Amino acid sequence: MKKTAKGSLVSILVPVYNESPNILEFYFRMTRVMSQTGYRYEMVFINDGSRDDTLDKLYSLRDKDQRVKIIDLSRNFGKEIAMTAGLDHCRGDAVIPIDADLQDPPEVIPELIAKWEEGYEVVYATRTRRDGETLLKKATAHLFYRFVKRLTPIPIPKDTGDFRLMSRKVVDALKQLREQHRFMKGLFSWVGFRQTSVTYRREPRYAGRTKFNYWKLWNFAVEGITSFSFMPLQVATYLGFGISLFAIAFALYLFTSTLLYGNPVPGYPSLMVTVLFLGGVQLTTLGVIGEYIGRIYNESKRRPLYFVQGKAGLEDGKEISRLEGVN
Ligand code: UDP
Ligand code: MG
Repeated sequence: MKKTAKGSLVSILVPVYNESPNILEFYFRMTRVMSQTGYRYEMVFINDGSRDDTLDKLYSLRDKDQRVKIIDLSRNFGKEIAMTAGLDHCRGDAVIPIDADLQDPPEVIPELIAKWEEGYEVVYATRTRRDGETLLKKATAHLFYRFVKRLTPIPIPKDTGDFRLMSRKVVDALKQLREQHRFMKGLFSWVGFRQTSVTYRREPRYAGRTKFNYWKLWNFAVEGITSFSFMPLQVATYLGFGISLFAIAFALYLFTSTLLYGNPVPGYPSLMVTVLFLGGVQLTTLGVIGEYIGRIYNESKRRPLYFVQGKAGLEDGKEISRLEGVN
């Protein structure tokens, strides 16, 4: 069993991209919840290149409350990278990534912390319901989680977002994974450690609109699958194999029928169908291979994951000292 001292620091990681109308409400609800837990805490906001006044609001919050910390990325890098920046900078003994739009209710956090106190290293929050989202989004999300589960050997918990608690051990492990194509939910699971879950109801957005359209979600899904599975590449093999078997059978049939009945009609339709079908299969499999090669190409450039153009409260050495006896 792990000892979690009451003096432990809890880091709340909040990636924000144009979340201006949500910031204050988020801050108040989070403050209320966190002050009840009795833990020391920091709220690390990662500004992911917002174009509204999100950053100003964050700085004015920080003027009043030093527990608000800010990482300002040099542009919009996307949520996965924003969370990575947060993981890299936060100091907490427990770290909780959460959305700024209050879809993940902060009120669940005490439950996460309770499980952490029991000795779990990862406590993920699984949604039992999603309110305020379109049927199509719910249906595609449902399908996606089940599809990924079948394709990938690592157990990515279904209906679970990024909202979870991770201990320092897990965060330190995650920090070593520096790939460009980051499907965080997968990486969270990949590192392993003792895990458990709590359930919650996903609420509608407090204000503003989702940043993810279906094209982004589709790409996100492709990322999730290609990051953790070779199955699409293997599909090409099996498809090719299946088609070859079929082709042999078909050839035998043509051969015997020509011998028995002659060949009165030149086989234009069957020829066209075969050519088009094979062409389609070949292009698709080439595309699949291309997806993987593109990713290899990107990884091979070894670019930094993000650039930071401003930081507040996270400068090295200025941090409140961590209490001992933790972990
Ligand atoms: N987000 C971000 N960068 C982006 C897109 C989103 O940091 O490029 C943040 C956003 O501010 C929010 C969280 O990620 O805190 C979840 O975004 P959103 O609510 O739009 O996603 P959804 O809940 O619809 O999946
Ligand atoms: Mg949301």
